[in-house]
Amino acid sequence: MDLHFLTADPTAAERAAVDALLGAPADGWTGGPRVDRDTHTATGGHQAREERHLLLPGLHAIQSRIGWISEGALNYLCQRLTVPPADAFGVATFYALLSTVPRPPRVVHVCDDIACRCRGAESLCAALEKKVGPAYHPPAGNHHHVPADASAWIRTPCLGLCDQAPAALVTQAGVEPIEVLFGDATAESIARVLGGDLTAAKNPRPRFPQAGQSSLRLLKRVDVIDPTSLDDYRAHGGYQALRRALDIGADLVIREVTDSKLAGRGGAAFPTGRKWDAVVRQPVRPHYLICNADESEPGTFKDRVVMESDPFSVIEAMTVAGFATGCQRGYLYLRGEYPLAHERLQNAIDAARSRGLLGENIMDRGIAFDVEIRKGAGAYICGEETAIFNSIEGFRGEPRNKPPFPVQVGLFGKPTVVNNVETLVNVLEVLRIGGAEYAKIGTDGSAGPRLFCLSGRIAKPGVYEVPYGATLRQLIDLAGGVIAGRPLQTVLLGGAAGGFVRPDEIDLPLTFEATRAAGTTLGSGVIMVFDDTVDLPSTLRRIAAFFRDESCGQCVPCRVGTVRQEESLQRLCAKKPIGGVEQEIALLDEIGLAMKDASICGLGQTAYSAVESAIKRLRLFEPAGQQ
Ligand code: SF4
Repeated sequence: MDLHFLTADPTAAERAAVDALLGAPADGWTGGPRVDRDTHTATGGHQAREERHLLLPGLHAIQSRIGWISEGALNYLCQRLTVPPADAFGVATFYALLSTVPRPPRVVHVCDDIACRCRGAESLCAALEKKVGPAYHPPAGNHHHVPADASAWIRTPCLGLCDQAPAALVTQAGVEPIEVLFGDATAESIARVLGGDLTAAKNPRPRFPQAGQSSLRLLKRVDVIDPTSLDDYRAHGGYQALRRALDIGADLVIREVTDSKLAGRGGAAFPTGRKWDAVVRQPVRPHYLICNADESEPGTFKDRVVMESDPFSVIEAMTVAGFATGCQRGYLYLRGEYPLAHERLQNAIDAARSRGLLGENIMDRGIAFDVEIRKGAGAYICGEETAIFNSIEGFRGEPRNKPPFPVQVGLFGKPTVVNNVETLVNVLEVLRIGGAEYAKIGTDGSAGPRLFCLSGRIAKPGVYEVPYGATLRQLIDLAGGVIAGRPLQTVLLGGAAGGFVRPDEIDLPLTFEATRAAGTTLGSGVIMVFDDTVDLPSTLRRIAAFFRDESCGQCVPCRVGTVRQEESLQRLCAKKPIGGVEQEIALLDEIGLAMKDASICGLGQTAYSAVESAIKRLRLFEPAGQQ
């Protein structure tokens, strides 16, 4: 293939950032200086193209060294990986955390999503505008100079720190880049960070209200053990599940998981045992395992708490899953906004590898399995399993059509098992007590313990573990009730892709079967509480803007529908409906139906869910007397 590269050259720093990841270039064809032995024929093209999966790590390397990705830097990375620059530009512009226009090296990303809005994010942004000036908008063109000590703030969707809202993420590019996700942000603390005082970005400890309670199964070690210590993890029961798995063999592990009735906790609730069994039956090799740690559903932060506070459990659970399904390689696809989780997981992987718990000969049983972290870069859609494949492979994170299903044709075209963090850590409990015993927890249709993320106008926001079947009211009470005892306006169940329920519905048992019967969903375990102080129409507009922004744009119903939905909501909120409220709502409903029926993936299919529930369940836009 004849690739046409750009004429722009990289700076020394950009070149160094790429070389630190890929090593020095082998010849003039891959970005090195042309020398006599570089004949007119390139060699090693296939080999270079097989490295395409390093495109996103390469873009991260440039972004975190320089603060943005210039034409010269992109060009050099493309030469190194033999990727057409136009193609790589499409990838770089797909992700919100990457910038292809000049951006200051220090940036504070301030969350203005729905949970943070409940906790004053809009007033925070207004105060910031007064104190330090407006959010950053790059000037036109990409050749203007950004001083090395410049800083800026920008708005961002949910950062996954809803329990400590309002949240912010500071990224500081350089030879030693810094990233800190911090909560309880104020205009003062952000202004100090922008001025270079990063001590103002307090690295939050997970506030886990149930810490140390004896009833806990999944979170029993959270805020109890030292998350950086493998010895501490082992002293609290760690690696017993893997030992048992190796003792009983892969077939029996899958049997136990099937008997446990464990279902995926990401939203689709697919039976985990069936998924594992389907992968193990595939004759094609190799098999891959992906731990989906890209929780970016607004209001979801449970996986972050597990990864930050009990990271070895995630690595152990991945090892069990890899062993059971015949995978020798696992990828942990982590959302880019979780720097502390990244650090702790990498430490856990390194420690496990050094102690023979990952690698070629796990526990001296001749079993090989290893884990690599792949960092996302701010794209909600990359939580969709097939979008993860594309993202890891170095393409735009766009979902693929199904079938073929991932268990047949997944990552790099091979059979792949994808489970999220919560699902995987449940497997440790299944192996600890046995599948049959585990199936007795919860209800007939929803087995096991479940993590819920309580946020919004709630007294004690945080992650809570309860068995399936606890009611919404019990969860709200567990979290201290509505702030200051104010009247409950509504609860958003399942996140932005979920639905609102009314105050008179809070005795709803939180199970798959009960929520399905009630016409709502548990989704990713979000319980966002809204009291009477929250402006609901404005929340709906934020949800609509979120989906418009996050649609990958691949299919028309979603790409166009999310825009039209937002426009229609704006008209309704401004009391300027086309032809009257009833007609406007009918139009909105038609758009929603088209998205639901004709979109490729879950994003488009659920983009109308919350809006629909607000209209039909809460009867939001009806005149007061008719509600
Ligand atoms: Fe992309 Fe939306 Fe289509 Fe999903 S539904 S593939 S996000 S355009």
